[in-house]
Amino acid sequence: MKSLALLLLTALSLNSCDSTEKAETSNRVAVEEEAIVQAPEFNADSAYHFVERQVAFGPRVPNTAEHYKTGEWLIETLRSYGAEVQVQSFQARAFDGKMLNLRNIIATINPGAAKRVMLAAHWDTRPFADKDDENQNKPIDGANDGGSGVGVLLEIARTIQAAEHKPGIGVDIILFDGEDYGQPDESDFPFQDDTWCLGSQYWSKNKHVANYKPQYGILLDMVGAENAKFAREGTSMQYAKNIVDKVWRAGNRIGYSDYFVYTNAPGITDDHYYVNTVAGIRMIDIIEYNMANPDDYFGPYHHRHTDTMDIISKNTLKAVGQTVLHVLYNE
Ligand SMILES: [Zn+2]
Repeated sequence: MKSLALLLLTALSLNSCDSTEKAETSNRVAVEEEAIVQAPEFNADSAYHFVERQVAFGPRVPNTAEHYKTGEWLIETLRSYGAEVQVQSFQARAFDGKMLNLRNIIATINPGAAKRVMLAAHWDTRPFADKDDENQNKPIDGANDGGSGVGVLLEIARTIQAAEHKPGIGVDIILFDGEDYGQPDESDFPFQDDTWCLGSQYWSKNKHVANYKPQYGILLDMVGAENAKFAREGTSMQYAKNIVDKVWRAGNRIGYSDYFVYTNAPGITDDHYYVNTVAGIRMIDIIEYNMANPDDYFGPYHHRHTDTMDIISKNTLKAVGQTVLHVLYNE
């Protein structure tokens, strides 16, 4: 199929272009063809296991022992894969007045490379199940909402370290804390702005490296549910359309067109919003879009007690992890 397309384009250029344009067209096509680098295999069993490990700690709610222990395990795990790990500890006030002890965990792979790509996910989980009909005040497992993105990123770190052939760029994995402590729609407190994404808000104002300027960023959030669809989310399209195009093209090229769909979805506020608007770094969000119930945007498990390991699919983790690896290896 690939060579057919090349022949066809060359033939067209012979008929319709002058000789300079013809040469340019052929070169461009040739370069694009050669540029496809095979990324190492993303192991979905291992990614699944990383999600399971997080859930086994219990809900990762800030100011709890489960949250603290998970943070220690994440730091240790990323270090064990050869990354330089920095921990950004800070406090932030939640919408309910509580002072939260938070940590952004930042893993640097190939620190010497000037050209870098930033990958991120949030590692905390929501302290309530405010969309559930029952036990609304109890925290959720957050297998998908939190756990899945982190699981994929840990597996990417492990894969790169184990691979003989490394990507030509530096990769920074940033695990944001305090993403999911936002004010519920129905709340006794007066409405406040900017109560979500506390970790990315802090990091965007206090980057771990002065003048940190990656080429772009990719955020993963809710990337593990069975049959998930990832639509072209509005905030990503507004600030970084060409990165959406690049990632969707990669996903479709390597066989994941069922997941990376060309549907436009409304913009949402997730960690990438602050990275784009405050840090000034173009970042997209790969996040599940509920095509069956677009009014909600999110899946039926969202901020409910059904967000457990039962909804996690290895196929979805694979589609996302392999696509991101493909993008990194083709930079
Ligand atoms: Zn959430």
